[in-house]
Amino acid sequence: MTKPADPNLEFLSQAMTQAAEIAQEVRRQMPANSITKADDSPVTIADLAGQAVMSYHLSKRFPKDEFVAEETCAIFQSEAGKKSLQQVVDYVGKIIPEADADKVSAWIERGCGEAKGRFWTMDPIDGTKGFIRGEQYAVALALVEDGRVKLGMLACPNLKEGSLQAIGGEGTLIFAKRGEGAWQKPLFKKGSWKRMRVSSRAKAQEAIVLRSVESAHTHTGRTAKLMEFLHVKQPPVLMDSLAKYAVVASGGADLLFRLPSSAEPDRREWIWDQAAGVIAVEEAGGRVTDLDGKPLDFSTGRLLTANRGVLVSNKHLHETALQALMQARGHSH
Ligand code: AMP
Ligand code: MG
Repeated sequence: MTKPADPNLEFLSQAMTQAAEIAQEVRRQMPANSITKADDSPVTIADLAGQAVMSYHLSKRFPKDEFVAEETCAIFQSEAGKKSLQQVVDYVGKIIPEADADKVSAWIERGCGEAKGRFWTMDPIDGTKGFIRGEQYAVALALVEDGRVKLGMLACPNLKEGSLQAIGGEGTLIFAKRGEGAWQKPLFKKGSWKRMRVSSRAKAQEAIVLRSVESAHTHTGRTAKLMEFLHVKQPPVLMDSLAKYAVVASGGADLLFRLPSSAEPDRREWIWDQAAGVIAVEEAGGRVTDLDGKPLDFSTGRLLTANRGVLVSNKHLHETALQALMQARGHSH
C-alpha cells in the first residue's frame, strides 16, 4: 500500500498534530531560566493539556474505548496546582472552546482507564528532558486490543523524516497499522505519506546504535560492553524519546538497547513509552523484543511486567544482538 488506508487517519492525525502544537507552544514560551534549571512545571502543563485534548477527541469518536495515559489530576489539589489548572485550561481552550476547569479535569482523569481489552494509550510528551533541551521528544498514541498493539502514531516535532542529525524543520508524523505498514509525513507542513522501511544492514560492525541521552535511563556501561562484543565501529548516537524508534523504522539506525540502569535493574517499562514505537518498527520490517528475546506483552496492565528491557532492531541484527546480550550477562559492569 502506498498510502495508509484507515477511516480514522485524518481524525487521529489532527488530534496528534494539536497535541504536538501545544507542546511546541509551551516550549516556545518557556522562560530561559527554567530551561537551565530543568524546571518540570511547564512540561507538566504541556503534558496535561496534550492529554486533555486527546482524551476529548477520543471520547467523542470512541466513547466506549478505555483511555490509559501518563498524567493524573492529583497535581491540581495544591494551591500552586490551581494555577496550573488554569494554565492548562487556557491552552486547551485555544483548541476546544468549551474547555473549563471541570471539563478539562474530567478529560485528563479519563486517562486512568483500565489497560484491558481494547484501549488507547498515550504519552503526551515522551522524552521530557529532550523537550526541555529543545532536542528530540515525541507525542505517542497507540491502540491496544487484547494485549497486542494494533495501531500507533508518533508525532516528533524536532525530527526530520527519521534522519539522525536533523533537529528542527517540519517535524515528522508517523502512522502504523498492524499488518498494513508504517508511513511518515511532515508534521507541521503539507506533504504526502511515505512508506517507512528499516535498513538492510546485516553486519554488526557497521551498525548505527542509538542510546538514551540520559544516562540514568539506561545502562551506559553495558551498552559500551555490548558494542565491544558486536565490534561496532561507530560510537552510539544519543537521542531522547521514541524518536529513536522512528529513526530505526525509517532506516536511519539499526539497533537500540533499552537496558535497565544499574540503579534500577528490575525496572519495568510503561506501556505508553513503548507501544507506538514498537508497532512503527515492526510494521517497517524491524523487530522488537525484550532483552531475553520475548515479544512485548501488552496484556499486563500499565506496566510491561512480563518483560525486562527492550531490544529494537532492523530484524537482520536481532539474533546477533540477543547473543551479545547473553554474553554481557556474565559481565557486571
Ligand atoms: P529516553 O528518552 O530514552 O531517556 O527515555 C525516556 C523515558 O524514560 C521516559 O518516558 C520515562 O518514562 C523513562 N524513564 C524515566 N526515568 C527512568 C529511569 N530511571 N530508568 C529508565 N527509564 C526511565
Ligand atoms: Mg514517556
